[in-house]
Amino acid sequence: MTTRLSPHRAANDLTRLLNAAFGTGPDRFPVNVATVAKDYSNQFFPEDPITLVKGDALPNFDGGLYKAPPGKKGWGILYNDAITSPGRINFTLGHELGHYLLHRLLFPDGLECRPQDMVRWDSEYAEIEHEANVFAAGLLMPLDDFRRQIDGRSKPSLDDLGTCADRYRVSLIAAALRWLEYTERRAVLVVSRDGYILWSRSSASALKTGAYFKTSGRPPIAVPSTSLAVRSDLLVKSKGVLPHEADVWLHDPCEEMALLSDQYDFTISLLHLDNASPRWGRDEEEEQDVFDKFAPQTGMRLFEQG
Ligand SMILES: [Zn+2]
Repeated sequence: MTTRLSPHRAANDLTRLLNAAFGTGPDRFPVNVATVAKDYSNQFFPEDPITLVKGDALPNFDGGLYKAPPGKKGWGILYNDAITSPGRINFTLGHELGHYLLHRLLFPDGLECRPQDMVRWDSEYAEIEHEANVFAAGLLMPLDDFRRQIDGRSKPSLDDLGTCADRYRVSLIAAALRWLEYTERRAVLVVSRDGYILWSRSSASALKTGAYFKTSGRPPIAVPSTSLAVRSDLLVKSKGVLPHEADVWLHDPCEEMALLSDQYDFTISLLHLDNASPRWGRDEEEEQDVFDKFAPQTGMRLFEQG
C-alpha cells in the first residue's frame, strides 16, 4: 500500500522552500510556477523532471500534464493559449504542477484537464481535480502571507480581495475562496447569473450559524429581488455595497458587496454578517455540499473565474 502525498503537505513543502529563498521580499509573489516547476522537479526528481512549460492550442482543455515523447525523459505542462486571464493561466499552471507532484504515478501517461463542468464530483477523477486545486491554492496563496495582507478578524471589501488577487496573480474568486478558508468572520460568497445562485460558499463561522445556501440537488435558488445581484442599476462601474435587513439574503441582516463580471456574465456577491453569537447554531456542523464547494455547474473552473 502506498501513502499518497497530501496536497496540503506538497504545497507546504514548496512554500517553505520559497519562503527560505525569497523571505518576505518583493520577489516572493506572485509565485513563478513555471520556474518553480522546473527547478523543483529537477532537484528532487532528476530522473523524471518537468522540462517544458508553455501555452499551446488545447481547444478542449484548460491545461494538461504530458509525458515527454518516447526517447525523452520527463514531463511537460501545457496551458490553453486561448486563455487571456493571467490569473486563470497561473492557477492552471499550479493545478498541473499539483498533478505532477501528486498524481503522475497514478497517471503515467499524463492528464488533460477540462473546465470542470460535467465532471462528477464523487468520482476518483474529480477527487484528483480537487486535490490539484487545493495544491494550487496553497502554493499560490500561502495562508501565512494572506493573513498578513488581511487579518482573520478584519472585514475586507472586494477591492481588498482584488488587491490580494493581483498580488498572487489569481482570480478574484480564487482569492475570496482562500480568504473564506481562514476568516473568523461570518461571510458568504454567492456567485449568481440571471437572478439565480450558481453556487455559494460560506466561512466556517457562517456555516456553524446556519448562514449558507444549499444549491445542489434542488431547484435553483433565486437571489433576493432587492439585492445588488439583480439590481445592476444600483452599481457604479459594476460595483456596489448595500446593507440588507434580516430575511433578505439570509436570516440575519447582512452587508452585500457586489461586482458584476461582464466578461463571464455573472455577479459576485460577498455577504458580510455580524459576528453575532450563534443563536440558531446547530449541534452538528452540516458539511457543505461538495458539489457546492467545487461548483462544476458553472461550466468554468472554479478558481479561475473572474
Ligand atoms: Zn486537473
